[in-house]
Order: sequence, then C-alpha cells, then structure tokens
Amino acid sequence: MPESVPACHRGVEDLPRLGLDDDLTFRCGRDLDCFTKCCHDVSIVLTPYDVVRMTRALHLQTDEFLEKYTISPFTREQKIPVVLLKMDPETKHCPFVSGEGCGVYRDRPWACRMYPLGRAEPKHPTPDQQAFHFMVHEPLCHGHGCGTPRTVRAYIEEQGLEEYDMMGRPFAEFMLHDFWSRGETLPPDKVSMYFTACYDLDAFRRFVLETRFLELFEVDEARVEALRTDDQELLEFAMQWLRFALFGERTMRPKDGAIRAQRQREDVQP
Ligand code: SF4
Ligand code: SF4
Repeated sequence: MPESVPACHRGVEDLPRLGLDDDLTFRCGRDLDCFTKCCHDVSIVLTPYDVVRMTRALHLQTDEFLEKYTISPFTREQKIPVVLLKMDPETKHCPFVSGEGCGVYRDRPWACRMYPLGRAEPKHPTPDQQAFHFMVHEPLCHGHGCGTPRTVRAYIEEQGLEEYDMMGRPFAEFMLHDFWSRGETLPPDKVSMYFTACYDLDAFRRFVLETRFLELFEVDEARVEALRTDDQELLEFAMQWLRFALFGERTMRPKDGAIRAQRQREDVQP
C-alpha cells in the first residue's frame, strides 16, 4: 500500500536490513481495522510507468490523467516536476480508494505495491554498499506480524514488482545520471521537454510521429512501427531522447545531411 519513496528512505540506515531471502511477516486485507487507512493523505510519487499503466487502465489520454489525478510540484534542488497522486482536496483520500479497497489495484503504482517494504539502492554499488530492503513501520498499519512469513523475494513477486522494476529501469537510470547529483538545473524549455517525455506519453508520441522528428533522426522502421502502439517502447525511446537532448549523449543518430539538427535541438522539442 502507499508510501512515498522519499518517506521510505528517511533514516533507512537505522533500520534492520533485509536481503531477498530474509523473511517478512505482513498481511494486508479488508478484515483488518486499518483497511484503506493508508490511502489517505499520502504523498505517492508516480513513475512514468505508473502514469501510463493507470492512464491505460482508465481508458484516458496521458494529459487527461495528469490533469485529473495528479499534481506536479517542483523539486527544490533540480527544479524539475515530480508527479504525485492528487488527494481529494476535502477528504484527503486517494481518488481511487473506496470501501472496497483500491479501485486500480491491478495497475496500482509502484509505491503502493512496495509498502510497507522499502528499498535503498546506492548509486554506485560496491562490495560494501549493496542495495537492501527494510520494513516501514507506521502506527496506522496493523498488518505487521500478521499472516505467514515469506521471503522478501516472494513478497516482491506477489506484488508484481518485478515487472514495474524492469519497466521503470530506464527512468531510474536516467534519474541516477551525474547531471542531477551535480545539482545542475534545466532551463524552462528543457523542463517542459522532460515532463512531456517522461509523463505525457501521448504528446511525446505525437512529437515523434507527427513532426519533423523522423526527418532528422535515424530510427529504423520496425522501431517506428513499435513506437506507434507500444507504450513501453516509447518510454524507453523517450529516455534515449532525453539523454541526447538534455545531457548531450550519443543516444540518437542525426541523419546524414541533417547534422544541423544537432544545432537545432532547441527547435526540436515536444
Ligand atoms: S492507488 Fe490504490 S493503493 Fe494506492 S493510495 Fe490509491 S487507493 Fe491506495
Ligand atoms: S495493513 Fe497496512 S497496508 Fe494494509 S490496509 Fe492496513 S494500513 Fe494499509
């Protein structure tokens, strides 16, 4: 259930570390007196994959989902937007919760799947510093100690987290780029590009397929076809584009004779 990633990582050094084969004992269910209490007044950070999963489940366009269900405050350090689920302004409930539970359970966000398990991942793992898991204990949650013990690995599998981790990997790597740790910031036009490519995937698809983009960059035909319908392919492509356009990496191939496009990058943005 829900917990914001930043909150999970507060003071994690002090918490007992769990490996994948360690046991946890936790159960969530409607018979517990805390059922859905955790879906109230929480900061749930959405990843690009979370946004696209929920958007498609609700049969919306990404701009409609973003408008209706999210808020996008800016981070203090990098001044880039993060996307959070928008709680009801009056009740402070998640827009998807009801007495029956989570209305988007099959497509619920990564953070909701993880809770109350947390994960800390060093940027550059070393033999001494490896990723580890830990349990988040909050007084409102009465599921700790309930149910049958199972390994962290089994919990991850049960919550469908492997797919989310795999789909979220390109974005996670993008966010671990040194650009961010150097504390650099993007100019406003690049911030808009970042937001569109990461979160407003339908607008990014139109940018790739319905502008001069494909005249300027080499993208093989099979991939162009995949980009028309395959959201995951498009998300990966969006990360490649951002690495090129924001960090100057050679992740895109300007076409021969269109090298000037490199200089025109300021004009080529969603
Ligand atoms: S998305 Fe579902 S699990 Fe997550 S806070 Fe909302 S109702 Fe709860
Ligand atoms: S057990 Fe914890 S996660 Fe489950 S409904 Fe209760 S508060 Fe939420």
